Amino acid sequence: MKKNELFLLDTFIDNNKLLLCLVNNEASKSFLYFNYTPTLYVKSSYKFIKNLSKFFKISFYSTEMGEIYTGKKVKVYGIKMDIKNFWNVKAYLLNQENIGVYNSDLSPLLQFYFEHNLFPFAKVEVTHNNNHIISIKSLDNPMDINYKLPPLNILGIFPVCKGNPKYSQWTGIDITMPNGEKLFFEKFDTEEFFISIGNIFKEYDPDMVITLSGDPVIIPLIKFGAQKYNIDIPLSRPTDNLKIVSKKSYSFFSYGKVVFKDSISYLKGRIHIDINNSFFVKNSGIDGLIEVARLTSLPLQEAARISPGSSISTMELKTAYKNNYLIPSHKAFPERFKRAIDFIKVDKGGLFFLPPVGIFKNVAEVDFFSMYPSIIEKFNISVETLNCKCCQHISEKLKIPGTNYYFCQKKQGIIPETISPLLKKRKLYKNFKASEVFKNRQNAIKWMLVTCFGYLGYKNAKFGCVEAHEATTAAGRDILLKAKEIAENNGFKIIYAVTDSLYIYKKNATREEYTNIVKEISTKTGFILNIEGIYQFIKFLPSAENKNKQVMNKFFGIFDNGKIKVRGLMLRKRDTPIFIKNFQQKLLKIFPDYKRANKILKEYLLMLQNGEVNIDELVIKKRVSKPISSYKNKNLNIIAASSLTNIQPGESVEYVITDNRSKVSEERVKIRQIADSYDIEYYREMLIKAYNEIMGN
Ligand SMILES: [Zn+2]
Repeated sequence: MKKNELFLLDTFIDNNKLLLCLVNNEASKSFLYFNYTPTLYVKSSYKFIKNLSKFFKISFYSTEMGEIYTGKKVKVYGIKMDIKNFWNVKAYLLNQENIGVYNSDLSPLLQFYFEHNLFPFAKVEVTHNNNHIISIKSLDNPMDINYKLPPLNILGIFPVCKGNPKYSQWTGIDITMPNGEKLFFEKFDTEEFFISIGNIFKEYDPDMVITLSGDPVIIPLIKFGAQKYNIDIPLSRPTDNLKIVSKKSYSFFSYGKVVFKDSISYLKGRIHIDINNSFFVKNSGIDGLIEVARLTSLPLQEAARISPGSSISTMELKTAYKNNYLIPSHKAFPERFKRAIDFIKVDKGGLFFLPPVGIFKNVAEVDFFSMYPSIIEKFNISVETLNCKCCQHISEKLKIPGTNYYFCQKKQGIIPETISPLLKKRKLYKNFKASEVFKNRQNAIKWMLVTCFGYLGYKNAKFGCVEAHEATTAAGRDILLKAKEIAENNGFKIIYAVTDSLYIYKKNATREEYTNIVKEISTKTGFILNIEGIYQFIKFLPSAENKNKQVMNKFFGIFDNGKIKVRGLMLRKRDTPIFIKNFQQKLLKIFPDYKRANKILKEYLLMLQNGEVNIDELVIKKRVSKPISSYKNKNLNIIAASSLTNIQPGESVEYVITDNRSKVSEERVKIRQIADSYDIEYYREMLIKAYNEIMGN
């Protein structure tokens, strides 16, 4: 029997057991088995459970667990089964009428992690006999901020191409070895290439494989090559070299947009991360991803591919599990995506004051720190604390202004209990502004907190509750109004306000005066307000359709430290060509010097006219929201998309306008890969529009 302190890299299911991949400080790996039996809870008659146990040959016991909504203890049967039986039993139970099924949304692996306080990259103490774990203890806390990371061999595989690797011609493949060495392969369909890949995997034994489009392309390509040329490539380990768990691609709604999720290629024994298929890696880097995995207990491969909303839901599940609550099962999973539309409607509950069009000087932008999550924490807003019986006698005192809702004062709710440590952690990380790693981790938590509020209003989220969402926005409005009142009482004007930001102004106000008013508002409201920055000047723009119409979120400004902030301009839109974005950026740097602006405009027009602009800089990128065949009206982007086979709703098409006035629709626009000229007049108009956005009245 041996006892070791190790890092837990990952856990996989292998032969009906859990297979843990562990690493010591010297980067030496071990694979150890753990015999784990997951649990499901059932509310049913004794007869039903007795028959079930006979049919599936599983054991059961009677127990009491808490019900989330009522808080009451109820009698249920706990059933324990082999891992391989879990999905069959679960599917069978979810098909039965008139019984309650609980904890079925927690996979065996997640149950194991929750039960033992484990998470990816945790430091653990393992006692084992040969290759079987006898006991495992976590020596780590997911709320620590100064955690040590395990030594990792990281391999990078990146196609060299323009645009989306799925639809582009590749000119080769770049490989970054764990020791930092780089290799370039021009040919990637030859036997030699796959032999090299096999050797790299054998020699370096990577723990993590980072790719661009590895999910739909790179990993399937390597598997294909290994099979075609009969080459030993240990994509997975320690056995089943070519085992890849693939999941099909799908599209779904998120915040009003159709989002396309690529097919998934999970490796076994190694961690595959496809940067193109990961919200968290794109926004917060690998540091942010590791933070999310530690907080949620989700394996890195899974954490890499989830939305911030799912990450916060998983943390809520963890809280519920720790409190011994029964977790109701999601029966109708696909419904989630339809209902997302409702959720977006509810989401627009924040208060705002529209800004007057024009230029203002010495305006301060002040923001509440994680306002909605802080409200949820402070008022204990949660599904099960809403209008509780135990606090009914003081309900009038507790009511959120403008609503008929109050929340329990005796027992902390699941949602506040989940986000309260996140708020603390984010504050701690923010104290170390110079650290890029901490900044990334802070950013990942920020996204989780933001969506936590959104998910409250989302009926099909497990802990969603429209009343709780309404109460949160109502409290937010109240705080913003109070802040406005305090500011105005001190001689400040509110120029613009939206959700949790205020743009305040007082003639000749110094930074000290702004600091003082921010302190006063924080003290009086009980919510932390910070100065985001003081603008040398800020210009609020009118609506594109009507020059007299004020709009939200369309402005640019320069802070006193020289930093530029832009909202709603062409340069912020994802479909705007780089050429136009660069142009607007140049204008912002010299604003409001009209003379130099005119010079820049002339330069850019000349480049266009002379055909000197690189085609790549004129690429327009647009998302396709429906299957191509269902479009009746063929817009330019649909014409372009039609030339790509297999494009899915939610994916983007990249194209160049080649001859907008052509009678032949296929001549008007060409996808990036085949475009070799551009429509001067079309881009000229776009350039003038971009100019007017910034320099116009
Ligand atoms: Zn109560």
